[in-house]
Amino acid sequence: MEEGAGGEEYLFKIVVIGDSAVGKSNLLSRFARDEFDLHSKATIGVEFQTQVMDIDGKEIKAQVWDTAGQERFRAVTSAYYRGAVGALIVYDISRRSTFDSIKRWLDELNTHCDTTTARMLVGNKSDLENIRDVSVDEAKRLAEEEGLFFIEASALDSTNVKGAFQIVIREVYNNLR
Ligand code: GDP
Ligand code: MG
Repeated sequence: MEEGAGGEEYLFKIVVIGDSAVGKSNLLSRFARDEFDLHSKATIGVEFQTQVMDIDGKEIKAQVWDTAGQERFRAVTSAYYRGAVGALIVYDISRRSTFDSIKRWLDELNTHCDTTTARMLVGNKSDLENIRDVSVDEAKRLAEEEGLFFIEASALDSTNVKGAFQIVIREVYNNLR
């Protein structure tokens, strides 16, 4: 996190983590470019995208990092986490195994970031209600136990994507004061 010379410009590094194919890259492209890709490949991805936001008249640059497929090999590097002030921890509501992995992702986050890092649990693919495999209640319970914000979202139909990032960014901003 950096503060600009005028004290009115902020750069927040936000990381997106979670199992392969939960929709991390699409959440990011929906947030940064309002784009979605049905056939996105795990290996394709950029390091990060920057989105400028306004909070209380302050310019916030959210630099959101994407794993670019490293997670498939459980090889997300410490450089990926370095300096992160916020994290979106993503699972797929239609695939329970990705929810079961959340604890492991939290352990990894705790290894690399301190407890002040703002955390948001994101149940992605909320459009797949008909094949839901994880209930809202149990996700809420986990979020409460672990001190996470929680939201369900869909990169496909755009539900709560901006909201998820905004809540984390607002929390980081509030923690500065
Ligand atoms: P990543 O490996 O976590 O980065 O996941 P991707 O963003 O590459 O997405 C994996 C697959 O899930 C792709 O086929 C996407 O089109 C699909 N996908 C991503 N987000 C959603 C969503 O919100 N709803 C649905 N139905 N599919 C999604
Ligand atoms: Mg990806």
